[in-house]
Amino acid sequence: MNDKAPADGDAAGATVPSPLPRKPIVTAIPGDRDASTLVLICDHCGRTYPEPSPEWAGLWQAATAAGWGGRGRPVGPHRCQVCAV
Ligand SMILES: [Zn+2]
Repeated sequence: MNDKAPADGDAAGATVPSPLPRKPIVTAIPGDRDASTLVLICDHCGRTYPEPSPEWAGLWQAATAAGWGGRGRPVGPHRCQVCAV
């Protein structure tokens, strides 16, 4: 029995799921200009991290290098370089 599904259409046309369900605490959100990027928001003052990144890991690495602190996950809390000190 071969259950392997054949290539279904073009891989580049991956379907994008409907907007993420709203959660009470979300500090890494899709960017305004490009929903495939992430923007980090300070849970304390609302400041956003100005460098949208397509990957959470890259965004968080850059954010911590810039002085941000908090949980290393897309859900907070996170604090900007001003509030983290
Ligand atoms: Zn802040």
